[in-house]
Amino acid sequence: MKAELIAVGTEILTGQIVNTNAQYLSEKMAEIGIDVYYQTAVGDNEKRLLSVIDIASKRSDLLILCGGLGPTEDDLTKQTLAKYLGRDLVFDSKAKQKLDQFFASRPKHSRTPNNDRQAQIIEGATPIENITGLAVGGILTVDDVTYIILPGPPSELKPMVQKSLMPLLANSGEQLYSRVLRFFGIGESQLVTVLADLITQQTDPTLAPYAKVGEVTLRLSTKATNQQAADLKLDALESQILARQGLDDLPLKNHLYGYGEDNSLARVTVDLLKASGKSITAAESLTAGLFQSTIADLEGISAIFQGGFVTYSLAQKAAILGIPEDDLKTHGVVSEFTARAMAEAAREKVGADLAISLTGVAGPDKLEGQAVGTVFIGLASAKGSCVKKVFIGNRSRFDIRYIAVLHALDMVQQALLA
Ligand code: ATP
Repeated sequence: MKAELIAVGTEILTGQIVNTNAQYLSEKMAEIGIDVYYQTAVGDNEKRLLSVIDIASKRSDLLILCGGLGPTEDDLTKQTLAKYLGRDLVFDSKAKQKLDQFFASRPKHSRTPNNDRQAQIIEGATPIENITGLAVGGILTVDDVTYIILPGPPSELKPMVQKSLMPLLANSGEQLYSRVLRFFGIGESQLVTVLADLITQQTDPTLAPYAKVGEVTLRLSTKATNQQAADLKLDALESQILARQGLDDLPLKNHLYGYGEDNSLARVTVDLLKASGKSITAAESLTAGLFQSTIADLEGISAIFQGGFVTYSLAQKAAILGIPEDDLKTHGVVSEFTARAMAEAAREKVGADLAISLTGVAGPDKLEGQAVGTVFIGLASAKGSCVKKVFIGNRSRFDIRYIAVLHALDMVQQALLA
């Protein structure tokens, strides 16, 4: 875990106070084996604090902010972090009660809205009680980054660290457990839209989407004492996610193809082919062997793949696959007819259970009047053949060919699961 300390207060920068909190916190983190990689001091200025938080969030897993929780106008740590995370401030009932009692017992003290803020925490945070002061602290995790907020006065910060924070960070022997869900056929923006509330409210487990070329992964993470306890929490969140409907009205479950950081669509598909004892071949135009190369990257592929074809030109589609040239000219190379004929011919020539074909326009120019990104994928099996037309728009040549292969793998997977 990479930790970072951010001390907030102009007095530190002007040399009026020495940043002893940083020294104390570094010492405490070292005691429990947490590495502190950076210490920063920043003035009471929202813009500069936002930029420090932004930089720190991108390079550290744990951010400890201290100072600026007081009732004066220049105390802005909590609200600035809330702004950065896009969250509201909400009252912590225990801290609010303490504040109410404080002012009830001191009728001469006038209470301002800034006083109220001392009893507030960022939405979703766990409060850290301040035994020697009024400003409540907080801890929350967003996108795998844990934020801790502590008051500046050492007389308040130290008891909080000693009594609450150290047990929380060191205790319990808890460790981080993660689960990666892999989706195909749904974009990151759609997934994030459908899961917006879960992503906003996340505390434990946390939920982080990552967009990759042609697919999206979701990482669910939680802290627990053992795998079983973690699985209980991760299972509950996963069921919630998979039951959500995508913008295509299908449950997200239909777009989930596998689990794990390294479990590619190719691997899942090849494993399924192996498990069902089915062999595969391919005839490729657009992708010029990329489908075959992708599956051949996986060990043990010879059990299900003997070989296939790269037929880029019309002439080679006719010569190698035996598709009549006249038919190719009539229907076009980028057509449903050609995709179907290629898949059927490949299957027959190799004697495989399944055959994939890929023909399309990788660009930069249109072909046969078809837009760049138009792809026809054929699938032939003992049950007959089918063709899927996909449009992979606004992509580079490389991406179009790569994503076309993912669609082909998805078709194989769907056919095996049907
Ligand atoms: P308060 O409620 O007292 O305003 P606060 O959480 O807003 O607390 P600051 O206003 O930043 O904290 O600082 C209050 C006092 O705490 C400072 O005048 C200083 O004495 C002490 N202090 C703040 N930050 C540090 C620090 N990094 N190291 C040592 N002392 C500090």
